[in-house]
Amino acid sequence: LLALLGGTFDPIHLGHLDLARQIRDHFAFSEIAFVPAYQNPLKIEAPQASAEQRLEMLRLAIAEEKEPRFRILDWEVRSPGPSYTIATVEKCLAQGWGPVTLVLGNEVFKRLNAWKEPQRLLEIAQVIVVTRKPSQGIEIPTALTLAGSQPNITPFAMSPLPYSATALRKAWAEYWRSGDQASVPQGTSSSVQAYIKKNRIYAVT
Ligand code: ATP
Repeated sequence: LLALLGGTFDPIHLGHLDLARQIRDHFAFSEIAFVPAYQNPLKIEAPQASAEQRLEMLRLAIAEEKEPRFRILDWEVRSPGPSYTIATVEKCLAQGWGPVTLVLGNEVFKRLNAWKEPQRLLEIAQVIVVTRKPSQGIEIPTALTLAGSQPNITPFAMSPLPYSATALRKAWAEYWRSGDQASVPQGTSSSVQAYIKKNRIYAVT
């Protein structure tokens, strides 16, 4: 039983790891795979860290977790150009790794109709829609026909940790700009923090 946690991971932060842990604790997945995109087709800006750096930060963060069920699926990030979840899910199924469950934030799920082949995606994958506590309703994507009771869509309410990759990139840019050694940005695993520092990532925004 495989769960896919897609994202840009620019960089991976403690909010992502907390999400993965909560999914691990509440469901019975044998594997939870982080799936870094090379480029999210719906984001105008390219990631700031290189594909190689984002992958390495994921490796470091997951090594620190010491959780054998956490994996990285690197197909998308190794394939320059827009990354499409439908292709990744089909490839997982072709490998015999099904059933496949996508873990999507409510904000992401409600825009699913803008994805490639959303209807087919809902046919071949299960979906966990992460909502914020106190429990909100799922926002159904417009223009998608969701069949009957949707047994393949499971809401999951959690209180997210207050980290975002956007805020972290800004904090690092400010750190490099100010030269204030005492203000190293928090919110990532320590090995990721050291890697960003060593490689001077996010120095320009
Ligand atoms: P950015 O700020 O660059 O848009 P992000 O921090 O939202 O990035 P992504 O890599 O785009 O990170 O997100 C991957 C997934 O992680 C998304 O499904 C998103 O809902 C989820 N996520 C992001 N931040 C948190 C958080 N603090 N807690 C739980 N889930 C999160």
